[in-house]
Amino acid sequence: MSDSRLQELRSQVDVINLQILDLLNKRADLASAIGKVQAEMGTSFYDPQRESQMLTALEQNNKGPFSNETIKALFKEIFRASMALEEKEAKAKILVQRKTAEDRTIITLPDGVTKIGDGSFQLISGPCAVESYEQMDSTAAELNKRGVKILRGMVFKPRTSPYDYQGMGEPGLKIARQVADKYGMFITSEIMDASQISMMSDYVDIFWVGARNMQNSFLLKAMGNVRQPIILKRGLSATLEEFLYAAEYIVSSGNPNVILIERGIRTFEKATRNTLDIGGVAVLKLDSHLPVVVDISHSAGRRDIALPLARVAKASGADGLMVEVHPNPPVAMSDAKQQLYFNQFHAVMDAVEQLNV
Ligand code: PEP
Ligand code: MN
Repeated sequence: MSDSRLQELRSQVDVINLQILDLLNKRADLASAIGKVQAEMGTSFYDPQRESQMLTALEQNNKGPFSNETIKALFKEIFRASMALEEKEAKAKILVQRKTAEDRTIITLPDGVTKIGDGSFQLISGPCAVESYEQMDSTAAELNKRGVKILRGMVFKPRTSPYDYQGMGEPGLKIARQVADKYGMFITSEIMDASQISMMSDYVDIFWVGARNMQNSFLLKAMGNVRQPIILKRGLSATLEEFLYAAEYIVSSGNPNVILIERGIRTFEKATRNTLDIGGVAVLKLDSHLPVVVDISHSAGRRDIALPLARVAKASGADGLMVEVHPNPPVAMSDAKQQLYFNQFHAVMDAVEQLNV
């Protein structure tokens, strides 16, 4: 007798479970429809006031046996699940997100031949900062011997101390352009502020947004309107998600040609200037169709480990590598400890060329 009573009660619970399941999914469909209307209206999906009203109404209608606290906790979990669903749908719409395995952004430079993101391994190199014509010319001559096409022409230096070398400004860009033209190279240079776009556009082939400006959304939006491709560096403490959203600012503002650079992140480790997040490079390659380049200079802060880092960069599946090279590193105006001597640069190139991945 009691056995069949147990069976009967259990089957009633089973029916209710299925009803709850059905209702939960109906609720999710409604929440998602609300999300679509809100997206059209340009408002955000999460409305804390509405959530609080719903919780109050539930408390008022709660006849027990569950306590108000339990009911609130259960419903908060339901609200959270709906939010997560919305976030997943929103992510799928992100432009920089990889949609298929073949999805890739290939960036072609003005010669129509040099490409980034096509499966080749591109080198971006040059001194930390432009210091003189002679310094740029001797460096470019060396890079040119190894077929490097993209030359650093940095003239605005975002230094930690305002008393450190701040860069040559426009006269430095003139030098960089002259030298690049002499060797058939392209200039990339860091921009600090949207007000510099028009001046810099006369000199640079690729704009560069540095780590400290990765979350400067106004600058990122302005980069959406320039014709040149954009190099975007990962912020000092930025997550990969924040990094990709920064790239999204540029792409959604109209410029699809973004190159991501991993440059190391801040950790507790002191042996290197930053910690190169090579796992992050693999994740970026998986999650996004944008080209990814590894900066082996700022991630290390030292030149004696350039060789293994270069090998790791290539083996990671990245689209290229960024390394600083200077004719006389110890007397460089900035980043003297990490810039490579010419012979070290050639050793890096040998290692990269020999490594088949
Ligand atoms: C640079 O590469 O010139 C530079 C300043 O690096 P970061 O922005 O990564 O510090
Ligand atoms: Mn530097």
